[in-house]
Amino acid sequence: MDSEKIESAVRTILSQIGEDPNREGLAKTPHRVAKAFEALTVGYAQDPALVLGDALFESASDQMVLVRGIEFYSLCEHHLLPFFGHAAVAYIPNGKVVGLSKIGRMIDIFARRLQIQERLTEEIADAIMQTVEPKGVAVLVSARHLCMEMRGVQKYNATTTTSALRGRFLTDIRTREEFMSIVNAPAKDRY
Ligand code: ZN
Repeated sequence: MDSEKIESAVRTILSQIGEDPNREGLAKTPHRVAKAFEALTVGYAQDPALVLGDALFESASDQMVLVRGIEFYSLCEHHLLPFFGHAAVAYIPNGKVVGLSKIGRMIDIFARRLQIQERLTEEIADAIMQTVEPKGVAVLVSARHLCMEMRGVQKYNATTTTSALRGRFLTDIRTREEFMSIVNAPAKDRY
């Protein structure tokens, strides 16, 4: 990634919106924006399969493992504006389980690329299917999109929810219902 090219592009944007890129408050802005984009798109240089594959453990359990309330921040690929929210991930082990903290790390890797929420949701489910090889995976993502809210396309605080189901969660309605009821339970009932 060539920071100087990003900086010069940001200077172009600043002058095109009628600003003076040389005024004091903006002088370091191109550099800051380049740094910010470097951090917000660091996921391109990281491999989610590697993160998950590093933390697999044998397990005889075939009970649903569910993590919810996993915060994430991403950029929409249509406007380069943030969308952010929470993900819930469940899977049914088939001989292997994965370290729980790695699920959040894996989501961060996908989120720190330009995304649409639908693809982010699918990519999370597929990464777990491919590395943990469980009997099924369910992913639910709820997010606010600033590209809609700030431009007035959508009411403030509206959330968009997407889901991706694989294996048992697709074929067995009871497994799916169990997932949904745990995910939708208020936090105080769970902890
Ligand atoms: Zn957008």
